[in-house]
Amino acid sequence: MKPRTHGGGWHAIGYAWKKARDAGFLRLWRAMRSKNACKTCALGMGGQAGGMVNEAGHFPEVCKKSLQAMVADLQGAIKPEFWQTYSVAQLQAFSPRELESCGRLTQPVVLERGSQYYRPIEWDEALGRIATKLRSVAPRETFWYFSGRSSNEAGFLLQLFARIYGTNNVNNCSFYCHQASGVGLSSVTGSGTATIELEDLNATDCVFVIGGNPASNHPRLMTMLMQVRRRGGDVIVINPVVETGLVNFRVPSDVRSLLFGSKIASLYVQPDIGGDLALLSGVAKRVVEIGAAEEQFLMDYCRGWEALRAWLASLSWDEIERKSGVRRGQIEEIAVRYARAKNAVFAWTMGITHHAHGVQNVQAIGNLALLRGMVGKPGAGLLPIRGHSNVQGIGSVGVTPQLKDAVFARLQQHFHVSLPTETGMDTLACIEAADARRARVGFCLGGNLYGSNPDAAFARRALGNLELLVYLNTTLNTGHAHGLAEETIILPVLARDEEPQPTTQESMFNFVRLSDGGPRRHVGPKSEVGVIAALAAAVLGDAGPVDWRSMQATGKIREAIAKVVPGFEKLAGIDRTKREFQIGGRTFHEPRFATDDSRARLHTFVLPELPGGGAMLRLMTVRSEGQFNTVVYEDADVYRVQERRDVILLHPEDIARLGLRAESRVAVSSEAGRMPGVLLRAFDRIKPGNALMYYPEANVLVPRTVDPLSRTPAFKSVLVRVEA
Ligand code: SF4
Repeated sequence: MKPRTHGGGWHAIGYAWKKARDAGFLRLWRAMRSKNACKTCALGMGGQAGGMVNEAGHFPEVCKKSLQAMVADLQGAIKPEFWQTYSVAQLQAFSPRELESCGRLTQPVVLERGSQYYRPIEWDEALGRIATKLRSVAPRETFWYFSGRSSNEAGFLLQLFARIYGTNNVNNCSFYCHQASGVGLSSVTGSGTATIELEDLNATDCVFVIGGNPASNHPRLMTMLMQVRRRGGDVIVINPVVETGLVNFRVPSDVRSLLFGSKIASLYVQPDIGGDLALLSGVAKRVVEIGAAEEQFLMDYCRGWEALRAWLASLSWDEIERKSGVRRGQIEEIAVRYARAKNAVFAWTMGITHHAHGVQNVQAIGNLALLRGMVGKPGAGLLPIRGHSNVQGIGSVGVTPQLKDAVFARLQQHFHVSLPTETGMDTLACIEAADARRARVGFCLGGNLYGSNPDAAFARRALGNLELLVYLNTTLNTGHAHGLAEETIILPVLARDEEPQPTTQESMFNFVRLSDGGPRRHVGPKSEVGVIAALAAAVLGDAGPVDWRSMQATGKIREAIAKVVPGFEKLAGIDRTKREFQIGGRTFHEPRFATDDSRARLHTFVLPELPGGGAMLRLMTVRSEGQFNTVVYEDADVYRVQERRDVILLHPEDIARLGLRAESRVAVSSEAGRMPGVLLRAFDRIKPGNALMYYPEANVLVPRTVDPLSRTPAFKSVLVRVEA
């Protein structure tokens, strides 16, 4: 595979052309232009302005990821004979990409214990089986897992059903990705989401991109970063790997950039995996040392300045260098560039949250931003770059083990019900309860719970202990082959742009979009809301406090959300007004925060030593350019020049030091598991001492170590041994 000097460019255009040719140019164009929010990432495209339009109304805004998701939904149906042809053992040999490209699910199927084949069944039988089981177990023995791709309406309705049924074991995929951002930000500003709007990125002159590769996973963000550079601003990238698209990116919709390329990073710093907390604290220390801290702002609008100042002063540069893996000179360079910024935005992804100290990483970013008054004004602030297109919405509408007091009270009041009060189990706790046979039934609204779990062998065993596991999906994934219970039922659902009624989604900028839905592409799948309402009626009956049949109307659900969730008042009637909106109380353009005294919080830490050294390497599991979360569309990772996924990437120095040979097969082992037969690749863009493998396959090696504050597993800090 030919090394690439830039991201985007003609490759992206060629890819779009090929996909359009395969799917049909007009068919794909119509699908991409329909008034539906983009199905992939939470940057937010589409909605009432039409597909491929961003929140600022700019067109065309489209990327490879959105095309991949759309083309996947344009696939033909899985044929009935498929289920007689392929046994579970054969499906287990399929790769994530092969499962995804089997086609669209169109009929309910069941896999009973002892059987080797899924069997198609009718909807009534499927819902009947699930309802019977739910009525036969105690609600506390069930859990309800949500993917961030489902609509606000489906999320709200299912969490309501689960709670009225009698459990708070309600959680979503963010526990395995950005939960640390929510917890960390809430401890800094009192609000768990971005403090800025999309427009603020047009007014900033300095962007930190920390622990992420948006060139692959949020490509449209590259346009904003290119414009920061064109305005003479800084883009400071902090990442253990030099990612091609973060060095140079050719924005296909910008002729100059397409022809000549656009430098993205003005400064690229490679800490060791797990070294962010020390690095960010080192930059903060230097900012204070050079007198660039906004003392008046800190005294007027923050709490904890004196403690932070004293703690930073107490840190030694030796400790900072040792625990970050970054030389003092580079840290000072970051501080100098930051000190000259008028408006800075700090953006991060899972390189920050996938650590046992993920919440502290977020708090350290908060410290650094507040030190120079970069939260609470236009053009500056904090931006967790979220994954799934509605992962934030799902959290906002109540999909969490513990509802905020206001939402809990309003939910009871609105539906005249008394709901369970004990705190429910988070995602990993549910898997551990299944393993201990304390959970008997699991219900997954979208996503791939098995695939996204750490310690894959443990996850497989735990899910195997369940008596019933229900999946609602559009296509097949590794969970349907490996995450199997005594009885496993897969229910086919409609994609967002096939919904018979409008639905809504929330972007990472707290902007709510209205998706019109559209014509179904296949007979068989049902809307998520329809399935949930029918099941709730079957389990709880129609005589109760909630008329579940009427709750099939997404407009009715929105009326309830508008009454129950603060900031969502404008959701009621959005399908009539077509007015998409910014959620109130989340964007901080003034230094008055959502804390009890309106002051932001500063934090101090105990810096962790870097794990590993010697024969032990620090491994991070990553997404490739050909996938989105656990969904793999292409095996190739063009930017890292890898044509396959069964690889481990090490720096040539480590390969020599460990007496290994590039392009040979090695065994990779950790405290959680072992992967033999992995292809060793030399990769000089990663820092020596660190290693890279692809998620979700490498989850075999990821132990269940979690950040105690967010319960997010440390997918990006795994100690491994690599042997010939
Ligand atoms: S950047 Fe994200 S929201 Fe925008 S088109 Fe791509 S996947 Fe969709």
